[in-house]
Amino acid sequence: MRLALLVLVVAVLLFVLPTLLRRLRVPAAPRVDALADELVKDPVCRTYVVKSRAVSRAAGGDTRYFCSDECADRFTGE
Ligand SMILES: [Zn+2]
Repeated sequence: MRLALLVLVVAVLLFVLPTLLRRLRVPAAPRVDALADELVKDPVCRTYVVKSRAVSRAAGGDTRYFCSDECADRFTGE
């Protein structure tokens, strides 16, 4: 009975430890966030918006960023 418990504990540790280690490594890469937070210009109202929060639309093989759905719709003519 004790052996079964020990095996269970070891199995849980083997399963949990790699997950914890992976989580600890995540904050080591903040570069992606910095890139995602660059400012982009709304071509309709000419406001600068944070890219990660902007409304994006694909236009002519290019991605355009807008401050709102209204500006995006105005740009695409919807
Ligand atoms: Zn706008």
